Amino acid sequence: MSKVMDALAPTLPFDHDAIREKYQAERDKRVRTDGEAQFNAVDVSGEYAEYLTHDPFAPQPEPREALTDTIEVAIVGGGWVGLMLGARLTQQGVTDFRIIDSAADFGGTWYWNRYPGAHCDIESYSYLPLLDETGYVPRERYASAPEIFEHAQRIGKHFDLYGKAVFQTWVTEARWDEDARLWTVETNRGDKMRAKYLALATGPASRPRLPGIPGIHDYQGPSFHTCRWDYSVTGGAPGEPMTDLADKKVAVIGTGSTGIQAIPRLAQDAGHLYVFQRTPSSVDFRNNRPTDPEWAATLEPGWQKRRMDAFNAAMLGAGPIDGPEGDFTDDGWMRPIQSVTGLAAQLDDPAVLGEPGELDDLIDLSDDQTMERIRARVDSDITDPAVRDKLKAWYKQFCKRPTFSDEYLPTFNRDNVTLVDVAESKGIDRIDATGIVANGEHYDVDLIVYASGFEITSDFKRRMGIPVFGSDGQSLYDHWGDGMRAFQSHSTYGFPNMFIVGGLFPFGFGANYCSSVDDISGHVAYIIAEADKRGASRVEVTQETENGWVQTQVDSDGGIAKNLGGAETSCTPGYYNQEGAEVKSRNWKQEQYWGTVIEFGRLLQDWRTDGKLEGFNLR
Ligand code: NAP
Repeated sequence: MSKVMDALAPTLPFDHDAIREKYQAERDKRVRTDGEAQFNAVDVSGEYAEYLTHDPFAPQPEPREALTDTIEVAIVGGGWVGLMLGARLTQQGVTDFRIIDSAADFGGTWYWNRYPGAHCDIESYSYLPLLDETGYVPRERYASAPEIFEHAQRIGKHFDLYGKAVFQTWVTEARWDEDARLWTVETNRGDKMRAKYLALATGPASRPRLPGIPGIHDYQGPSFHTCRWDYSVTGGAPGEPMTDLADKKVAVIGTGSTGIQAIPRLAQDAGHLYVFQRTPSSVDFRNNRPTDPEWAATLEPGWQKRRMDAFNAAMLGAGPIDGPEGDFTDDGWMRPIQSVTGLAAQLDDPAVLGEPGELDDLIDLSDDQTMERIRARVDSDITDPAVRDKLKAWYKQFCKRPTFSDEYLPTFNRDNVTLVDVAESKGIDRIDATGIVANGEHYDVDLIVYASGFEITSDFKRRMGIPVFGSDGQSLYDHWGDGMRAFQSHSTYGFPNMFIVGGLFPFGFGANYCSSVDDISGHVAYIIAEADKRGASRVEVTQETENGWVQTQVDSDGGIAKNLGGAETSCTPGYYNQEGAEVKSRNWKQEQYWGTVIEFGRLLQDWRTDGKLEGFNLR
């Protein structure tokens, strides 16, 4: 036993070994032999393509002339990344670009996700991009989806991006033309535009995932994924009661971050709600509140970048939780580090934490402490003991995305809500014309809502879905046959003048996606502007540089990789660990930078310092 275990375990009100045994048993109960392939049965780019092309929020597009002109940058995606890249390019003086998106407006995930109860789960002052530049302070600490979508539109207007946007347009192919040194970008609207640079800003959660439940095609009633919420079926609008559900039996499948936000609203409005749960989420306190106008009035220019940095630092134990740039004391993302430092303070000799394995054990005990607290919350909130047991999450907190809500758990005390636990059968048995069969019982329902998530870590070809061909006509997906490879997560040998901005690549451990997106979009805008200044028409990372970077990623252990390595075999299945598969479908260790987002940001900044564009061939 380690010194930390010796010193602390006897003082704590739980049995670490018993908890870990329970975790393993709960994992074993859920692991499926088909792993990620369970979702392949319903591919939204195949027979379920309408899940991508159907837009319940906008009329069919008007016919328009096909675009065949030549521009400097074609940005594919108008979510946070496309918007931020557009803003940063503008600031760099690059203005001849176009943003192409399948939606009818900017916003990306926040255009599509209009399900009831949708909020951001990172504090909005750090999450919403470009607040400083647009002079906006969010109304609530955790902003609601309509406010976030409005902010995406605000960015579009502020940076004059609407005139550069081509909406309701799907990119169907991008191909490098070596002779012309241009990309040709084709779309479903007949466009065949040419661009010096191609920026893929397609986002990490743009492709909805449907569960491959047998019979899913047979259901005759209405059904939709949460990212295509159909208010013409439910009545109402985001933030308003869904008046057409009062006499309806509604089923919701999925209890991840989306499910826990939508379920309380559905329960309020539905005649009866059946919640089909395979794995319970860990549900910690939310503590949302309106923004204090007096505090907002004190904000000085540059406040948001300082706050984003302070948020990352506080969460990763590299800065104060209550410092001059922000008080994050009761933010859910800070509780893990608060728990770690609290336990460390109980050690007589904190220096032992420098010895091999001791810090890992402290983090383990701290996680037990956090999860015991979260499970105790279920005990105090839920009246029915049988329901209570089903709602307890038995896994380490970061095996799945932690969730935060003050409304979710009490929902299960309502008479019109039934929790149907499908853990033992590893999912729902089947769907038929009139409803759902689970644990051998048939549930007749009038509407099925799929809160079943997104393609986030699945095969990248499936996730991005756009054929991309580089030098010599090579397919990007063939080039990445053994796993994605890109220098600093943005540039790939053989694909000149192409940048992958956010989306496919995660860039270091942290919670606030938008702070990383800010780093990477500013970085790519810098490279494009610098290459232009040097008169380059062809910008390509060298094979050697790409190889070196892949090695950097493999070596960037930082403790996080080790933790996730264990997660492959000890965590409950989910998209974080490719559904618990022990043998990975690709070489994923090389795909991600495993240090922290702070380290990743610093690394990019250092690379820019000498202005040499080291590692690129410019011609
Ligand atoms: P998710 O976390 O992948 O959850 C999908 C849910 O569907 C899980 O509960 C899963 O159960 C369930 N499911 C899948 N197949 C099933 C089957 N055959 N039978 C029964 N249940 C099944 O998806 P999500 O909730 O949409 O969240 C995805 C990500 O989006 C989050 O991790 C987060 O990054 C982001 N998000 C963010 C916010 C925000 O507030 N900013 C809100 C929502 C989402 P298992 O767990 O057992 O697989």
